[in-house]
Order: sequence, then structure tokens, then C-alpha cells
Amino acid sequence: MKISVIGCGYLGAVHASAMAELGHEVVGIDVDAAKIAALSAGKTPFFEPGLPEVLTSAMASGRLRFSTDIADAAGAAVHFVAVGTPQKKGSHAADLSYVDAAVEALLPHMAAGDLIVGKSTVPVGTAARLAAVITASGSGATLAWNPEFLREGFAVQDTIAPDRLVYGVPAGEAGERAVAQLNEVYASAIATQTPLVVTDYATAELVKVAANAFLATKISFINAMAEIAEVSGADVTQLADAIGYDSRIGRRFLNAGVGFGGGCLPKDIRAFTARAEELGRGESVAFLKEVDAINMRRRQRVVDLTVTALDRPVYNAKVAVLGLSFKPHSDDVRDSPALDVAVQLRGLGANVVATDPQAIENSRTRHPQLNYETDLEVTLRGASAVVLVTEWPEFKAIDPVWAATLVETPTIVDGRNTLDAAKWRAAGWTYYGLGRP
Ligand code: NAD
Repeated sequence: MKISVIGCGYLGAVHASAMAELGHEVVGIDVDAAKIAALSAGKTPFFEPGLPEVLTSAMASGRLRFSTDIADAAGAAVHFVAVGTPQKKGSHAADLSYVDAAVEALLPHMAAGDLIVGKSTVPVGTAARLAAVITASGSGATLAWNPEFLREGFAVQDTIAPDRLVYGVPAGEAGERAVAQLNEVYASAIATQTPLVVTDYATAELVKVAANAFLATKISFINAMAEIAEVSGADVTQLADAIGYDSRIGRRFLNAGVGFGGGCLPKDIRAFTARAEELGRGESVAFLKEVDAINMRRRQRVVDLTVTALDRPVYNAKVAVLGLSFKPHSDDVRDSPALDVAVQLRGLGANVVATDPQAIENSRTRHPQLNYETDLEVTLRGASAVVLVTEWPEFKAIDPVWAATLVETPTIVDGRNTLDAAKWRAAGWTYYGLGRP
């Protein structure tokens, strides 16, 4: 199939490359000329495992190209809209101006029978509004909403072999045609019996935000238990293991720590709350404000724990911060708890030296005031405390005996409860976890 992908960020660049890898002829379009220049040269503008290989192979096949000109979408039958929907400045609502602009820009290039497919995460009601705009344009195009569930760090695999597909389509013949077109796009996933939910626009939009709200709630639930464990002497890790054995609960997403971040979960739960309030049902998801508040308190907890753990005043104390990205296997620092902790400690006067396998450049752009170091040994040398805030495998693999020879004071705050506390203590470290004695 001939496909265009509008917006080539974390979602769109992966989607365009993966669709070409699956055999489609794809053009990826973005307004960011630097991003398009990089992609056209076969370079990924961000770190995502497996993407360089897929991009290179798709470019070599001749099935993938990139452009800054929206007119290049003409001739494709299916047009994915994968532009950003960030949090509006000064509000919790989603900024839909990029989605609106992308659809407006596409319309003059649509032919009758073309399918415009929304992939961006949007507040419920957006698709119905855009469908009316598309109908009024007289372009003959149809709109479908096909929310994306990929996880950064596993984005290529999640796109090529998703765990489910959701199509929000209009009623009637136009909807049936849209389903047939999407089934052709996702032929390989359909052939392997990937669960498929065909529904209306509103349900498709809500599935995405409901999934993110559930995951955020699960994380904040265990972090709330960590808060109680901290004042009662219980161990939240053992608690999570014990409740996780209940198959109705499950152990995944029950890791207490510094909390969630990134370009999706925080802004999606806030936008959901804002949209529910607009719809007069703010009380239905009012608990998400608490989920958000618990999450933000955990960052503060790691900062406070570090200050308490120091055997000297925080001012000018060297604090080694391990991790900047919001999760391992990503260079994404949008709303990253790790970067937030580093910035807050710096704000208290600590001499923060931060390291990360992939996210230093993105962090430096946002917070040039921090000291960044690529070398782990240099990061640790002379530190009065070490704070682990992103569970990269290279940090988990640190030998505590070796690390103890480098630091001034062997004190570690494990903001992800990911280290073997007994092993670190045996190597002479004072170990602090979250919600653990
Ligand atoms: P991003 O900021 O990395 O990428 C968005 C891209 O859209 C940018 O490159 C920007 O230049 C481009 N863009 C903006 N306006 C444009 C226009 N008018 N025409 C063409 N390009 C335009 O964001 P992202 O992380 O890729 O997220 C995109 C959407 O996907 C969001 O709604 C997000 O919530 C959703 N989503 C993201 C993920 C994820 O893991 N990143 C997962 C699922 C869903």
C-alpha cells in the first residue's frame, strides 16, 4: 500500500520505518527540516533500539522516503497523523493545534477514498470534530482513529507485532471500507490473529487514555503503599511480590520508585482529567489528580532522602546522579523524574554530576546548568552520595565493591528499588530504597 505518515517523532519515525519494512511504500513527512534531513540520511534523530536497522533496511529497499512537503502525501491511500499532542501551557488540557494543522494541511492533497488515520493520543471527541471538518472539505476522504500503544524502548517490535489493534471508524459503508484498508495496512498482524477491536471514534480515543490512566494508577498505587511502608517499617517490594502472585492483580507495573514520566503518561492523565471536566464528569476521574500528586511526591521523596542521607550539608556536596531518561532504553527526557531529581538537587546547591547512556544531549538542551559526564567512573569519583533514578542495565550491573573505592562516602539512594540491597550493604554501602526499611 502507499502510505504517508505525518509527524516523524518517536511515534511517526518508527511507524513509517516499520510500515516500509512490512512491504508498504511510505513517505514520512514532518515540518522539522533537521529531523527530515537526518532521517533522509538514514540517521535516527533519537535513540530507539532496533530503529537504525529497520530505517536502514527500509531506505535501502527504496520503499521509504522522507519529506518536509505535505504535498508529497498525495498519491498515498492511507495517511497516518502522528504529530504531538503535548500539554497546553498553563493548563492540563491537550494542545491539539498540531493535529488540527496536520489535518488541515493534508486536505488539499486528498483524493476520494483516501483514509486519514489518527494515531496521536487525543481527548475523546476530537475525531468526531475532525471528521466533520474532513466531510465539509469535500475531499472525499474518510477518518479513522487507530490509537498507538507502543512502548519507547520496544517501539519497533511493538509496531511490527502489536499486542492488539483498535480501529475507531464511522458507521456504515465508509467504516467498512476503512476497516478493509486498515486490515491491508496491518495484514501481517491480522494474519497472526492479533486481537482486533473495531469500534466507534469515542471508544477508540478512550481506549488509549483509559489504558494509560490504568497503568499510571497501578504505579501510583504501589507508590502510595511505599509511602505507608516508609512510616510503618514494611517492605513494599515484598508487598508487591505477595500481592502480585494474585493473578487478578499481577506483578507487572508494581515497582515502587521515583514514579512515572515521559511524553505520554503524565500529560495523558492530565488531559483526560481536563476533558472529563469539560464533559461535566470531572468527578469520574478525579482520582487521577491523586495519581498525579502521588507520582510527583515520589520525586520529592528521592530528593529529601538524598539530602538526609548525606553526611554533610547539601551545598557543594558532590551527588552522582545515575540516569536522566524517563526510562531505560530511551533518550526521552520529557517530564523525566530522573532529570527532575537532578535539577532539584542542583537547585539545593548540590554539585550534581549526572550520567546516562543516551539522554545527556537531550538533558543538556533543557538544563544546561547541570554537569554531565559520560564516564561512569568519573561520575562516581569523590561523590558524597549516589542516586540511581533510571534503571539502565549498566547501572544495575555496577559492582558495589568497585564503586565503593571511587566515592568519598558509600551512600546510595536507589530510586528504582532495582539494586540488590544486601550485596550493596555487604560492600560497605549505606543503602536507601523507596518504601523499604
Ligand atoms: P514527538 O514530539 O516526538 O513527535 C511529533 C512530531 O510531529 C515532531 O517531529 C513534530 O515536528 C511533528 N509535527 C508537528 N506538527 C506537524 C505538522 N503540522 N506536520 C507534520 N509534522 C508535524 O511526539 P511523539 O512522542 O512521537 O508523540 C506523537 C503522538 O503519539 C502524541 O499524541 C503521543 O501522545 C502519541 N503517542 C506517543 C507514544 C510514545 O511512546 N512516544 C506512544 C503512543 C502514543
